[in-house]
Amino acid sequence: MNQITAADLACPCCHVQIANPRLLAAINQLQNTCGSKLEINSGYRCHAHNASVGGAPTSQHLLGMAADIHSPAHTPLDLYLFAEQIPDFARGGIGLYPQNLIHLDVRTYRARWYRPMTSGWKHHPGQPRRWNRTQRTCTPPCARARKTRLQSLRRAHAT
Ligand SMILES: [Zn+2]
Ligand SMILES: [Zn+2]
Repeated sequence: MNQITAADLACPCCHVQIANPRLLAAINQLQNTCGSKLEINSGYRCHAHNASVGGAPTSQHLLGMAADIHSPAHTPLDLYLFAEQIPDFARGGIGLYPQNLIHLDVRTYRARWYRPMTSGWKHHPGQPRRWNRTQRTCTPPCARARKTRLQSLRRAHAT
């Protein structure tokens, strides 16, 4: 499996490559842990590109500290569970988005957010369950559901 490099995380408009080494290391660790190729939706963003995609003005993408990813082999929630096993992501930011992707960053404090689930997540035992209309977020799966799901993922990976 190919390593993910700064080139994979380059800004699509200006092709500038800025990637924090901890982000690169953590994302490659994640790829090895889940055993399937990760596809990058968004990595580094210059200010112009960040504005054009509606990114937050203080987005970690502007610092080369963040990547939005998906994998054909795993649901975003499964990737979320794997990412929680990588120390730099566990201590940093992980967000779930309805476009079937997951945001990861290596900021130095913990941040989590969950946007509306997509229909594809419906049958997962660890799915976010309650939809908070005010905060526009879902509750994360309970600890027990996460543990069960992670165990079954590990079993699948081992075979
Ligand atoms: Zn750019
Ligand atoms: Zn992001």
